[in-house]
Amino acid sequence: MDLTLSLRDSLSRGRVAIERRGSPVAMYACGPTVYNFQHIGNFRKFLFDDLLVRTMRGLGYDVTFVMNITDVGHLVGDGDEGEDKVEAASRRENVDVEAIIQKYTDVFLQDWDALRLTRPDEQPRASRYVEQQIELVELLIGKGHAYDTPEAVYFEVSTFPGYGALTGQIAGERVVGAREEVETETSKRNPADFAIWLKAVGKYEHHIQRWSSPWGYGFPGWHLECSALAHHFLGHPVDVHTGGIDHLFPHHTNEIAQSEGAYGAPFSRAWVHAEHMLVDGEKMAKSVGNVFLIRDLVERGFSPLDLRYLALSVHYSTRINFTWDALAAARAGRRTLLVASWDGEPGGSPDADLMARFWEALADDLASPRALSLAHEAARLEPASRAATLGAMDAVLGILSPKPEIPAEVVELVARREDARSNKQFVQSDAFRDQIQKLGYEVEDSPAGPRIYPTT
Ligand code: AMP
Ligand code: ZN
Repeated sequence: MDLTLSLRDSLSRGRVAIERRGSPVAMYACGPTVYNFQHIGNFRKFLFDDLLVRTMRGLGYDVTFVMNITDVGHLVGDGDEGEDKVEAASRRENVDVEAIIQKYTDVFLQDWDALRLTRPDEQPRASRYVEQQIELVELLIGKGHAYDTPEAVYFEVSTFPGYGALTGQIAGERVVGAREEVETETSKRNPADFAIWLKAVGKYEHHIQRWSSPWGYGFPGWHLECSALAHHFLGHPVDVHTGGIDHLFPHHTNEIAQSEGAYGAPFSRAWVHAEHMLVDGEKMAKSVGNVFLIRDLVERGFSPLDLRYLALSVHYSTRINFTWDALAAARAGRRTLLVASWDGEPGGSPDADLMARFWEALADDLASPRALSLAHEAARLEPASRAATLGAMDAVLGILSPKPEIPAEVVELVARREDARSNKQFVQSDAFRDQIQKLGYEVEDSPAGPRIYPTT
């Protein structure tokens, strides 16, 4: 298949075609900061990465997918102020920094797998690549883009004329936003300059994670790691760089300044950003306290794959407002496709016309809502091609499961419930339903008799 994927690029604000260049597509995705549980809003961004990788591979691209794990340098204010998030968590939970990193990385990866997200080819921890980050700082100082001060090495924004292109900001001008910080003890030449190496002095005197460097002991800034890791694993330019919409500034703005300042070439051919997940119209965020975790969904009887379906049902560039009703609707939608795939006949071949439209939708800036509606068309095909078509689509959607064997105990309970119902003993029939549910199954009445499904 030689359809070309086109994506909306935040830098040019237009479409960029992902070209086949004879080498793997280099994809760099900003990863999690492992100081707390990743909530379902965070996972919306990773579901988007997964959709992108699966689509590219489905379209026949060879892809190298790199995603970092931020375990140092991400400060509470997202800029140059505040405590390191990982170190703050270590104090809060009264365990050492490494235990925090391990704990939240482990849960993150469990949730990652539960959502059937494609594992990156490389998933470097920032703290394991400090040498590469120090080299990048040296390069930036050597090229006149950065300067040393008693508390930090700063990137001098005015030396990079394209600074702020992602947000339309004017070079050197400070974006005044909700996150405007009151900076203390700074010897920045310009308030817009940002730290790339923070020294273990003053407010960071007790910083635990620290490395020796030409500028004394200290630690790398959050933005620096992505520039250094992308270069180390993928070279430059990369083909596509992803993030959440909140990464436009400061994170990606600063990544671009660092990488392009150091290497004199564009950082990425496409910059693609996933919109946020909201709750009651407000961004889902740990700092607001309105977060839900994968485990909260499971506790309420949902499958993590229902969240996959919900994410697919809204284009990545549109906000999703999370509600339990929306998740229930996603579950119902997924259930329709699941049942259709179970009821289809094995051994058929995919419907060529539907598959062509499916890939066209995805190649068109990952139009997943259109792809999902085509899956619903596939669910109405003749049994002979239904299962095969849905199965082929599921290489990207990732929401189906093989038809499970229903345990004899559950089959028996369903039969007893049927008896109770036909005798109008509704209290008893409800009690059977509860028992069935406790065993992890659901019974749905259809004209053809009761259907039994696993709850998740
Ligand atoms: P963090 O671990 O805080 O660095 O965030 C991990 C990823 O989640 C980043 O790509 C953020 O842009 C993204 N993100 C954070 N909050 C939300 C949200 N409410 N909806 C969607 N993505 C989010
Ligand atoms: Zn990044």
